[in-house]
Amino acid sequence: MPQAENSKTTVTSTERPNDERYDAQRVEMKWFERWKQDASLYAAEPNSTKQKYYVLEMLPYPSGALHMGHVRNYSIGDALARYMWMNGYNVLHPMGWDSFGLPAENAAISNNTPPREWTLRNIANMKAQMKRLGFAYDWSREVTTCFPEYYRWNQWFFLKLHEKGLVYRKKSKVNWCPKCCTVLANEQVLPNGCCWRHEDTLVEQRELEQWFVRTTNYTEELLRDLDRLAGWPEKVRTMQRNWIGRSEGTLVDFKLEGNAGPAGPTISVFTTRVDTIFGATSVQLAPEHPLVADFTRYNQPLGAQVQQLIAEQRKAKESGDIGEIEKHGVNTHRFAINPYNGERMPIWIANYILMDYGTGAIMSVPAHDDRDYEFARKYNLEIRIVILPTANDPEETMAEPQLPFTAHDGMLVNSGPYSGMSCSDAIRKMSAYAEEKGFGKATVTYRLKDWGISRQRYWGTPIPMLYCETDGIVPVPEKDLPVILPDSVKVTLAGGSPLGDVPEFVNATCPKCGGPARRETDTMDTFVDSSWYFYRYTDANNNRAPFDSKTAQYWFGERGIDQYIGGVEHAILHLIYSRFWTKFMRDLGLIANDEPVERLFTQGMVIKEGRKMSKNLGNVVSPDEMVTRYGADAARLYSLFAAPPDRDLDWQDSGIEGIQRFLGRVYRFFVRNLQTDESVRKFGEADWAITKRDLSPEARAIQRKLHQTIKRVSDDFQGRWHFNTCISAIMELVNTLYGAEDAIARKAIPAPFLVQVQRSLVLLLAPFAPYLAHELWEMIGEKESLLRAPWPKYDAELAKEEEIEIPVQINGKLRSRVVVPADASEEFVLQRALADEKVKAAIAGKQVIKKIYVPGKMVNLVIK
Ligand SMILES: [Zn+2]
Ligand SMILES: [Zn+2]
Repeated sequence: MPQAENSKTTVTSTERPNDERYDAQRVEMKWFERWKQDASLYAAEPNSTKQKYYVLEMLPYPSGALHMGHVRNYSIGDALARYMWMNGYNVLHPMGWDSFGLPAENAAISNNTPPREWTLRNIANMKAQMKRLGFAYDWSREVTTCFPEYYRWNQWFFLKLHEKGLVYRKKSKVNWCPKCCTVLANEQVLPNGCCWRHEDTLVEQRELEQWFVRTTNYTEELLRDLDRLAGWPEKVRTMQRNWIGRSEGTLVDFKLEGNAGPAGPTISVFTTRVDTIFGATSVQLAPEHPLVADFTRYNQPLGAQVQQLIAEQRKAKESGDIGEIEKHGVNTHRFAINPYNGERMPIWIANYILMDYGTGAIMSVPAHDDRDYEFARKYNLEIRIVILPTANDPEETMAEPQLPFTAHDGMLVNSGPYSGMSCSDAIRKMSAYAEEKGFGKATVTYRLKDWGISRQRYWGTPIPMLYCETDGIVPVPEKDLPVILPDSVKVTLAGGSPLGDVPEFVNATCPKCGGPARRETDTMDTFVDSSWYFYRYTDANNNRAPFDSKTAQYWFGERGIDQYIGGVEHAILHLIYSRFWTKFMRDLGLIANDEPVERLFTQGMVIKEGRKMSKNLGNVVSPDEMVTRYGADAARLYSLFAAPPDRDLDWQDSGIEGIQRFLGRVYRFFVRNLQTDESVRKFGEADWAITKRDLSPEARAIQRKLHQTIKRVSDDFQGRWHFNTCISAIMELVNTLYGAEDAIARKAIPAPFLVQVQRSLVLLLAPFAPYLAHELWEMIGEKESLLRAPWPKYDAELAKEEEIEIPVQINGKLRSRVVVPADASEEFVLQRALADEKVKAAIAGKQVIKKIYVPGKMVNLVIK
């Protein structure tokens, strides 16, 4: 008879199964059916007085099927959720779908299925996989980002950003992936200049009018608060610091000699070494610097040379390392004026200067910069020393350094009024002078730029903006949200937004003047969807607000999600955007926390034969196949056991077979040693104290092992998460039990004690192998919900290794005693004996010629 897991149906006696063999499929399907009947099984409690715990795995993109990386990610989170439930917390453990995005459109083009249909089918399949794997998600809070119930709040947030001046429209050079046929944010361009989705496709620059979110309004805070995120991997914090890229320096404007074109009369240069400016012997521009267009407008030969430089730059980006480019440059025969000394400096265009780095222009100081030195040697530009090393001996200060001399601790020479100053002094004074004269200032620059969120694609959130001929840009009024994404749209990769071809969508009425208006046809970057989704889980069905503030504040508290688990590939993208969004929502008054995530865990990849799994390599392990062959428990347990969770896991079929055998072994032990007598069982549920006394050595060995195992597993959940060692500890415990089967047979293990041990073993297994644990829980006659059963406690005294006292004799005479673990090795005991104070005193100045250890009895040292 099916029985809900937490129902109170009474079972009067336990029955021994006929078969010792563990049939994982039969058992797992039995529990799968039971769990299915109780939708509230894993529901977080509303208005609970318990302490909250919010554990979250990153929501997947519904690509069609789970891969083993998902299984590993979710197995970690699920083990933690179950452990926290057993520790009495009110646990929030939700799941959802990051369901807008490009693959749905590509699928629509290749198999002629509407993106929506394709996406929903994938979601259904992956959800079924998750359920079969036994993940304990609160499905009543499921979030699907492509539903209007969700994306209307993206639009609402967009309007709020607009109200606060945090979103703006600007025409500028933007990253364009020719394969995605859309713009990309800076964060979506890989370090080698390729697209994050297409690792072999170089991103182009296109001039487009786009919506930008002012993430840079929060730059300082995003940087500063990284110091507070002690629960994040240092690696991720470093990546974010580098991405934000703070650098202190001086902005200096060089005036152009002669007539200025549309790009203006000055060249702005950002330098961290303004102290070297008297040594600057040229100014160099990136080939795509706006001034270059002015220079080449009436100079075709120069234009052709610039095209060559652009091509070289592009090729270097493609090959992966722009830093290794063979430096080339072209002299423009134009000049800029050094504002500190009025000197005329030739302007060059060089292939190693990047437009998207700094201002796209540099001052070249060959004597004190490696790259400038190399370039100057190649083109015979003047190399002028303006910094000398500061030596301890003042005489030596004047020695010429080996070039290029790039150290910061030096003294200025040949630098007009600044000669004789230290580098740091000069930087301060020269920056102040620039500010005073109005040609520059001390400044801090950041690598982080505003977030371009317009996408020229169909399957995303429509941007709620209108263009009216009379009123210009007009936001859609809040009451008219959501702006629904129309369904039957022909998706092509022709370029341009597909929504532009849907007149019913494009043509609208201006809310200001009532005249005709045109809708924005770009959609939002899908990273908007994932920037705040974890708040929606706290109140997923709210149709009046993105979420209720009070409810969100209960779950996020002051520090955010208690534990977030996902891949390190999101270190820059999702994890910076969502930090920005949290700060923005805090400033809107919606939440009280400054950061979304208190503790972050980044798990390693699942690989096979040392390589990333991929269809091309034919080394993909399918979760469905693993579940069918070995069962969900085995797939989960193996993904936790095979490697520490933060490292890569090299999948071995023999490994999961080993896990399958282990689960069978556990089951068999329970069947063979099941205590069916109800009175024994009742007795066993009572205090440890009853059985602690008078345990046989065999029983005491089991007891010690059990308490050691509870300690190891509990400690790991609190700290380092080395579930692989937890699981091997549980395996050792099972080995100890098998080793005691003889003792059980001759009743040297008290039956009530055995009941207690079995019960604890089930509790230890519950977070890792929930199916088998539930089956055994029922088998031993337990009626309470295993999900909420209290986690076993360990007694440090009982976990202690047995210790014995060993007499130490010297030349046959007792001199001391040492205390060592009962199973200590000879080496350990002798070491301990020789380190003993009394022994040390007795053998001082003598030679130990023989060391004898009679195991467990005594040590004898012979000295001369
Ligand atoms: Zn792409
Ligand atoms: Zn209007």
